[in-house]
Amino acid sequence: MTTDLTTKIWANSGDSHLVEPDDLFTSSLPPRLAERMPRSEKDVEEGWEILYVDGQQFRRRMPKPGHGLTDEQGRTVMERAPGSTDMALRLQDLDQEGVWAELVYPSIGIWTSSIRDPELLAAGARAINDWAIEWQHFSPRYVCAATIPFLTVDTAVAEVHRTAALGFHAASLPVTPNNDGDDYNHPSWEPLWAALAETGMVIGFHIGTEPHDAAGRNGVHYRGPGGAILNYMETTYGGQRAVAKLIASGVFDRHPSLRAIVSEGGATWGPFIADRLDEAYRQHGSVVRPTLSRLPSEYLYENVYASFQHDRSAVAAVWAMGWRNVCWGSDYPHLEGTFGHTQKTLHELFDDVAPEVRERITQGSFRDLFPHVPAAPTA
Ligand code: MN
Repeated sequence: MTTDLTTKIWANSGDSHLVEPDDLFTSSLPPRLAERMPRSEKDVEEGWEILYVDGQQFRRRMPKPGHGLTDEQGRTVMERAPGSTDMALRLQDLDQEGVWAELVYPSIGIWTSSIRDPELLAAGARAINDWAIEWQHFSPRYVCAATIPFLTVDTAVAEVHRTAALGFHAASLPVTPNNDGDDYNHPSWEPLWAALAETGMVIGFHIGTEPHDAAGRNGVHYRGPGGAILNYMETTYGGQRAVAKLIASGVFDRHPSLRAIVSEGGATWGPFIADRLDEAYRQHGSVVRPTLSRLPSEYLYENVYASFQHDRSAVAAVWAMGWRNVCWGSDYPHLEGTFGHTQKTLHELFDDVAPEVRERITQGSFRDLFPHVPAAPTA
């Protein structure tokens, strides 16, 4: 492999994040609601971050200073990337890294998937979205994903229409809708899929957005040796399950223009589950319902997209397996992302790959979803 860092590779990102200001909710919501929205407190001495969400508490380990992707002061990328909280400085970070346009999710707002009160979630989502759209107004390189209050279909549909009118092109939904209601394959969700199709909003399923249960396992599936990487692997599957539910229950059959991207979850799973769904559809045909107009794999190959950061295998999903809908993603400014080494990563992934495959993954797939975004500079 040859790595030529002198040539800049420009890439769009199917997975990036805004970082909300600390006072986002206190400045936009009445105190009785603001105090229940997600907030983070860090216990640097003990190495824990505690997230408070609507009366629940979730503790997670913080990286040790100087270890892994933190610097010697213990600052994460989010804390040291100068543009993570400033819409003008962020463009400088993107230029330096070679990232052109981004699908941008919230950060602390990802935790809204653990809210259980529909009124709180609807108000919180409006506050996040009214703030996020200002970024998109600042630059067309920011494609912000609207936070959709999913606890009732009515609040979800209302916010889809409101945010589409504000100019959003993408709608962020948790990979699992909630702990005790109807799952995404249930017909009760049909008005939401119809609203998304009607408005042309792309569904963004960011991995790891299952509602956490403070009384239960808190997102932790494994403890003991290997637990950290096993739990990281486990976060991957929710996005695959979400799109499989839409395919199998006929959502893309009824709404052929609807598209969904699974962000941050790798890419070779696409052809894999396409084959599994086809085998089930064919071999278990007598019990399959609803009947679909096309094979499940056709919806996956056409309506579903994915973004990955470092995965070496992901590029082969395009050239070896024929799944065209693969995007790269920076995950800026999160710990799992490529900030500080984006060009190195892009060159390692693409230097030995055919130009059309590189173009498809770094720019073309994203352009399918968001054709309004101006073209990236040519290298
Ligand atoms: Mn991400």
